[in-house]
Amino acid sequence: MLHVYTGDGKGKTTAATGLTIRFAGSGKRVCIFQFLKDGTSSELCILQNAGIRVIPCQVETKGFFWTMEDEEKEKLKKETCRNFLKVKDCADKFDMIVLDELAGVISDKLVEKEEVIRFISEYSRKREIVITGRNIPQEIIDMADYVSEIKCVKHPFYQGHMAQKGIEY
Ligand code: ATP
Ligand code: MG
Repeated sequence: MLHVYTGDGKGKTTAATGLTIRFAGSGKRVCIFQFLKDGTSSELCILQNAGIRVIPCQVETKGFFWTMEDEEKEKLKKETCRNFLKVKDCADKFDMIVLDELAGVISDKLVEKEEVIRFISEYSRKREIVITGRNIPQEIIDMADYVSEIKCVKHPFYQGHMAQKGIEY
């Protein structure tokens, strides 16, 4: 089955994480691949202790994609493609994989959308695959079995509050 958590509200990655805990609790093997993240979020050691693998697919970059020089964009693209190959190589060792922030990888065109769609479509026929991020392409929404859109009603960021450890990371 294909599960999608999308929308502009907070809760996509945390919903996917909650699902991995439930799934691991049922005795199944789970892996979270984190794209565009540096692997420092507070839940990580608890997940590892619960037997949930977490693989960061972060690439050393400075700033946002649209502010990068062409050379840096190319480097990011190459390394993200290599990370995506890693996902394909180890996915069959798990009963569920989470591709966290995959939407950003697709919208920044770091991996070809068609390649991602082909992989998701094959994997979701046999196992569970969970995707998070804003602006998920319509083709993926159409293929998905579960789609939850989280809407931002309020967020303290707009009152000038900084990200809090344990809440945002
Ligand atoms: P979380 O990891 O807390 O479940 P998320 O995965 O839904 O959040 P992302 O889009 O991945 O959110 O963004 C990461 C961070 O940005 C989150 O920690 C969150 O608090 C913050 N964030 C999410 N939505 C908004 C928003 N609408 N405005 C400002 N900040 C936001
Ligand atoms: Mg997220």
